[in-house]
Amino acid sequence: MEHPENNEAYKGLTVNAGIEQPSSVNPYLKSRPRKKRREFSVQDYVEGIVKGDITVLSQAVTLVESLLPEHQQVAQEVIERCLPYAGRSVRIGISGVPGAGKSTSIDVFGTHVLEQYGGKLAVLAIDPSSERSKGSILGDKTRMEKLSVHPKSFIRPSPSAGSLGGVARKTRETIVLCEAAGFDKIFVETVGVGQSETAVHSMVDFFLLIQLAGTGDELQGIKRGIMEMADGIIINKADGDNLERARLAATQFRNALHLFPAPESGWTPEVLTYSGFYGIGIKEVWDMVYRYLDFVKENGYFEYRRNEQSKYWMYESINEHLRHSFYHNPQIANMLSEEEARVLKGERTSFIAAKHLLDTYYATLKTGK
Ligand code: GDP
Repeated sequence: MEHPENNEAYKGLTVNAGIEQPSSVNPYLKSRPRKKRREFSVQDYVEGIVKGDITVLSQAVTLVESLLPEHQQVAQEVIERCLPYAGRSVRIGISGVPGAGKSTSIDVFGTHVLEQYGGKLAVLAIDPSSERSKGSILGDKTRMEKLSVHPKSFIRPSPSAGSLGGVARKTRETIVLCEAAGFDKIFVETVGVGQSETAVHSMVDFFLLIQLAGTGDELQGIKRGIMEMADGIIINKADGDNLERARLAATQFRNALHLFPAPESGWTPEVLTYSGFYGIGIKEVWDMVYRYLDFVKENGYFEYRRNEQSKYWMYESINEHLRHSFYHNPQIANMLSEEEARVLKGERTSFIAAKHLLDTYYATLKTGK
């Protein structure tokens, strides 16, 4: 057969009509009503969480952290409905001053625990200073390289708004949600510089204190009452030139622990050295934690401590509510600075001023104003 190009009528440049090109913009898009992001109902949240859906869990935590009353209402309902699924985890508090190596350690601890014991790990934090100082935002994913990409981990930075009590309460509520989502290991991180340790202590089963050697203030924790809360003290950076100093510090801590009354748990807090950075002594630290857990589950202290914590949070919650209601009362808000000035000028005693304010507050409750 002759090739068409040899035919005289053939024009090489003939362009056949093609098919009509669709417009690059989807023509149906305009006519379709714009879809609003679906608002989850309480039921949706609970179902998603219990299924272990991380996206739903994250959104529920955001709701818990929100200050909007309508969010709070949904959040409280979600928490309440998650409660039957919660409680089945080990909760570990991890504290240390900035630079002690918390992020480095949590990264290796978390990976070790998941490898050794399986399950799922949530890393939460309490850092009431994070908003004001814009300082270390604990639980920040970027600080935990391995864990942040681990399929079995969930990392959430500290809620930043409000008082220590408020921040801690949110973390406490987030624990419930994480447990309902199947996280059976919870780390709660905090900066070892203030009151936040007490808050963490009130929500964990084991309190791990990270210390450093050779800073000249090894035993500083004693002054702040933090050491008394520790179920285990671990001296980080026991590597290279620092090894001997770390061992010495461990001996000092062991001796210092004798100064305290024996803990209620019946457990004698242990002091170990390790290196988070080089991964030395990690197994020993976690063997200790699990040894403790076996010990207190056996002697009933585990259950007792959790019950005490539930009571603590009930009273904390009442206190927080009352405080909020009092200070957000418009009449009180108006009177506060005036009363304060009177006290400072010596015109009124603190007690009379307080009584006057409280009487006014109760009166507004009666009249509903
Ligand atoms: P954080 O502020 O408590 O979270 O402390 P980081 O984990 O950020 O650690 C502070 C610094 O100490 C970083 O430069 C780490 O590399 C270093 N560091 C952490 N763990 C170790 C360790 O075991 N040995 C040594 N030599 N350095 C460490």
